Amino acid sequence: MSTPDILIQPSTTALSAAEREKLMASPGFGKLFTDHMVTIAYKDGAWQQGQVKPYGPLTLAPSASVLHYGQAIFEGFKAFMQPDGSIGTFRPEANAERFNRSAARLAMPALPVELFMKAADALINIDKGWVPKNVGESLYLRPFMIATDAFLGVRPSKEYLFVMIASPAGAYFPQGVKPVTVWISEDYVRAAPGGTGEAKCAGNYAASLLAQAQAQDEGCDQVVWLDAVQRSYIEEMGGMNLFFVYNENGKPVIVTPELTGTLLPGVTRRSLLQVAKDLGYESREVKLTAQQWRDDVASGRMTEVFACGTAAVITPVGHVKAKGYNFTINNGENGPVTMALRDALLGIQHGTKPDTHGWMHKV
Ligand code: PMP
Repeated sequence: MSTPDILIQPSTTALSAAEREKLMASPGFGKLFTDHMVTIAYKDGAWQQGQVKPYGPLTLAPSASVLHYGQAIFEGFKAFMQPDGSIGTFRPEANAERFNRSAARLAMPALPVELFMKAADALINIDKGWVPKNVGESLYLRPFMIATDAFLGVRPSKEYLFVMIASPAGAYFPQGVKPVTVWISEDYVRAAPGGTGEAKCAGNYAASLLAQAQAQDEGCDQVVWLDAVQRSYIEEMGGMNLFFVYNENGKPVIVTPELTGTLLPGVTRRSLLQVAKDLGYESREVKLTAQQWRDDVASGRMTEVFACGTAAVITPVGHVKAKGYNFTINNGENGPVTMALRDALLGIQHGTKPDTHGWMHKV
């Protein structure tokens, strides 16, 4: 099936280059939005004509089913300025595919990958002045889909709206990379077998907020989730996957929790498993308990821990807290394997290292 082209309706109130540059001097994360957005409606069993139009409020009936029954999914990926002045997105097809897996889990329609890609390219093209130029900065793309039927009753909606917005993102660590402190949540769980853990649906994040607040009350930056059944296996962090670095006979071995269906299969996670291989590190997908984590740090076998995701790429984990115990990893400092992986991945994204796996999509 060929996908319809996207109609372009340019904004008449787009910011001037000078106004934009002023805002982008310190973009932060998730607070500035570009001049345009993409919308594509779904009705009568088909995706309708897509549009690029001025960024602005959406109109929804108060009875729209997303507001009551929560059919809402989203994605996040980034566009990077390349050294030759072109713009590249990092593995957008992987996000398009995960979007459709999330859609399937929430009984929502799939959006053709080609249409997802066209929507992203059209938005980035019209708002290319919003792509930051400095290394560490990027344009963050946020596609999402909501159920729009004006109907009360628990059943899949018949109408949906796909929207894509874009937000310039500054360096995640403007003062340089700094390890975070994490809180292992024993009171709350994120996802149970058979639930929606591997879908990127809005409800998963709503349900995480109380645990995140508890983490902050405990002086921690982020929550670490345990599995819902045994309450002992490490799953992932609030918005990032976790990696553990072991030293086995002087060689680094990279370990990450296996995809059990209850954690989000991160695009960064998948990419780092490959980058680790490229750098000559052995890697393993395992089940790791919180107890083992603590023991392996204590014995010195585990030398580094880091979290990874689209937003921050790689964040070292320096301290771990839980009820009744806490421990420090690598003296709370950035580790060499963590930083080597970070440099390698950022290099591919910013076009300063060869893209040997064909991950960059030229906009
Ligand atoms: N886990 C969760 C719960 C997340 O929200 C994210 C961010 N999408 C990740 C992991 C990391 O995924 P990715 O590398 O695709 O950004």
